[in-house]
Amino acid sequence: MSDIKARMDYLVAEINRNDRLYYVEARPVIPDAEYDRMYEELIRLEQEHPEFKDPNSPTLRVSGEPIEGFVQVRHSPPMKSLDKCYEKGELHQFDAFLRREIPRDVSWNYVVEPKVDGVSMSLLYEGRVLVRAATRGNGEVGDDVTQNVRTIRSVPKTLPGDAPETLEVRGEVFMTRDGFVKLNATLDEAGRETFMNPRNACAGSLKLLDPKTVSTRPLDMIVYNAGGVGCDGFATHAEMIEAFRRWGFTVAPFSRIVPTIREAVDAVEELGSKRHDFRFEIDGAVIKVNERSLYDSLGATAHSPRWARAYKYAPERAETVLEGITVQVGRTGVLTPVAELKSVELAGSVISRATLHNAEQIAAQDIRVGDHVWVVKAGDVIPAIDGVIVEKRPISSVPYVFPDRCPVCGGDVVKYEGEVAVRCVNPACPAQLQRRLEHFAGRNALDIKALGGRLSDILVEKNIVKDPLDLFTLDYNALQDLDIGEEGSPRKFGRNALNMKKAVEDAGRLPLERWLFAFGIPNVGVTVARDIASEHEKMSDLAESAVLKNVIENDSKKGRDRKILQIKVEAAKAVLAFFGGEYGRGVLARLAALGIDPRRAEKETVKTEGPLVGMGCVLTGSLSRPRTEWAKLIELAGGIVQSSVTSKTRYLIAGANVGAAKTEKAKALGTEVIDEERLKELLGMVEGEADKSGSGEVRNSGKDSSPVQGELF
Ligand code: AMP
Ligand code: ZN
Repeated sequence: MSDIKARMDYLVAEINRNDRLYYVEARPVIPDAEYDRMYEELIRLEQEHPEFKDPNSPTLRVSGEPIEGFVQVRHSPPMKSLDKCYEKGELHQFDAFLRREIPRDVSWNYVVEPKVDGVSMSLLYEGRVLVRAATRGNGEVGDDVTQNVRTIRSVPKTLPGDAPETLEVRGEVFMTRDGFVKLNATLDEAGRETFMNPRNACAGSLKLLDPKTVSTRPLDMIVYNAGGVGCDGFATHAEMIEAFRRWGFTVAPFSRIVPTIREAVDAVEELGSKRHDFRFEIDGAVIKVNERSLYDSLGATAHSPRWARAYKYAPERAETVLEGITVQVGRTGVLTPVAELKSVELAGSVISRATLHNAEQIAAQDIRVGDHVWVVKAGDVIPAIDGVIVEKRPISSVPYVFPDRCPVCGGDVVKYEGEVAVRCVNPACPAQLQRRLEHFAGRNALDIKALGGRLSDILVEKNIVKDPLDLFTLDYNALQDLDIGEEGSPRKFGRNALNMKKAVEDAGRLPLERWLFAFGIPNVGVTVARDIASEHEKMSDLAESAVLKNVIENDSKKGRDRKILQIKVEAAKAVLAFFGGEYGRGVLARLAALGIDPRRAEKETVKTEGPLVGMGCVLTGSLSRPRTEWAKLIELAGGIVQSSVTSKTRYLIAGANVGAAKTEKAKALGTEVIDEERLKELLGMVEGEADKSGSGEVRNSGKDSSPVQGELF
C-alpha cells in the first residue's frame, strides 16, 4: 500500500516539476507522451486509491469538481490599488513627494515594471503548498477562486524547500493576447458569445464555477508584490522578485532598477515603446521604490501605497465619424452590429469598420449614427469603439434602435436567457445559409477551395443552393456560365466550376470528423468533431449513439469513463439533437440516397503522396495552434510526427521559447530547423488563406496583419 502512496507522491512531484520546466522555464526535458503517461497513471491511481489523493494534485487542473459559489476571503493587509498618473510631470511630483518624506541622507532606487492588465490575485502557501487563491474583490474581501487558479499551469502548486513555510504573494492573472484571439475564435466557431478583450475574458474565466472549463482557458499569472506573510526578509523589491522567480513563480519580463526619476521616466518610455511586444496586455508602467525598508514610514492611503505610482499610457486611439451601423447575420443566426466608419489610420492599419459586439454595448454607450467616436484596438487586434465625443453630436441625432427582425430575412429574432446575443431563428434565413455554406466548404470541413464567401453569397442569392447538400446535385456544366463578377464587370465562373465539381466528389470520401465539423453544429469545433468521430464507425450511427447518450447520462456521476469524459456534454447533446431532429434526419436520408456515409478516419493510413511524404517532423516550443492540429496536418501531408529529434528527423518545427541547445542538437543531426510560417508554406497553407476574412473588420495597410482572421481553426 505505502508503495502506491510513494508512487503517487513521486508522480505528483514529477508532474509539478515538469509543468514548471514546460510552462515557466520553457525548457521541457521529457517528451509530451512521457508526461501524458505519468498524468494518466496518476489519474488512475487516484481513482483506485482516493484515500491517498493529494489535495493539491496536479490532476485537479482538469478534473476539479464544480464549485458551488465563491467563499469570501479577508485580505490582511488589504490588497490596495495604485495611484495613477497620466503625465510624465506627475512622476516628477512623485519624486518630489518622496524627497520631502525620506530623510536627506537616505538614498533610494526606483524599479519600473509593466502594469499587467488582468485580475489581481493573492496566493497563499502553507507548508509550501498552495492552499488558497483569492481575488482582490473590494480590497478588504475577495473571492476564493483556488480551484480555478489551480488550473493555471504556471502557478506553482508547491514551493521548493528554501521558500518560507508560509508565504503569501500577490500578482496578476491574465489571459495572453494569442490565447484570447484563439479563445474567441473557438467560442465563435461553436456559436457562443465572444469576449470583449483579454482582461474581460480573464475575469470571466475566473468567475466560472467549473474548473474543468477554466482549465481550457489560456490563463497565466505574473507575481509582483509581497503578501501578508513570508516576505519580510527582503531588503529590496528586486531581491524579493528574484526569490519569487527562484521559487517557481513567473515574474514580469521587463524590470529596470534606476537611481533617479529621470532614468525612471526613460524606463517608462522604453517600456511604452515595447508595450505591444508582450504576450499579455499592459496598460501602464508601475514605478516603485526599491528599498522596502522605506515602505513602513511612507505608509499608505486607504486606496494605495505611497511608495508606488502607476503611469498609464495613453491608449492608441483615433477620432472618426460613425457613418452607419450594419447588422451582420452569422452562421448560427447571431446578429452582430458593425460600425461603418469614415476611414482612419490607427497603429499602422487603415480602419473603416469596427465591431460593436451587441445591442447592449451600443445602448450602454449610447452610440448613434453620425457621432464622432474614438476607435481603439481592443486586445490590440480588433478595432472597437471606445466612446462617443458627445460634444460633437449632431443635433438631429437619434438613439440607435437595434433591429427587432432579422435584417436579411425579416424573420423573428430571439434572445436566449443568460445571453446578450440576439439571434435570427428562421432556419431558412439566407444569411445563415450563406455562412453555413461557406463553413461547409471550409478548409477543416469539406475543403472545397473554389467555394469561398463571395461564391456562397451568390449561390444562395440566386437560389442555386438552398442547402449545403445541394452541392452534390448541382449542374456544374451550367455553373460555368454563372456570373461571379462585381457589379458592372461581369465575369464567368468558367473552369473553376469543374474544379469545384471534383472537390465535391472528393468530399464524399472524406472521413466522418470532417463532415461532423462541416455541419456547424453548436459546440462542435474541429477537435470535438475529431473526438466524437473517433468513437463512431459511421455517420448514420450518430443519431442513436450509445456513446453520446452515455456522456450525457454519466455527466453527474462520479468515476466516469476517461474516454467518454473527453467529449463535452453540451457537444454530445448538440450532436444527438442535430441528427435526431428533422433537419438532421433529412441530411442522413439525402446522403444515403447519394451513397455517402462518412466513416471514421483510418488510424494507420500511410500516405504515399503529399509534400512531406516519409519525412520525420518534431514539434517543439509554444506554437500558435495546438500540437495535435499540427500533427494531423503533417500526417495529412504524408509526414511522420516524432516526439524527439533523431537522425531520421527532416524538420524541427520550433515555436516560440525554444532553447538554443535544442535547435543546435537538431542541426548537428542534420535536421533543418524551421518556424511555423515555413511549415505553412511546406503544407501549402499560405496560399488561398488570405480571403477567409470573416466579417472583414479591419482593412490592413500591410504590416501588423490581424491574427483574428482566418484563424478559425
Ligand atoms: P487599477 O486596477 O487600475 O486600480 O491598478 C492597480 C492594480 O494594478 C493593482 O491592484 C494590481 O492588480 C495591478 N498591477 C498590475 N501590474 C502591477 C505591478 N507590476 N505592480 C503592482 N500592481 C500591478
Ligand atoms: Zn434571418
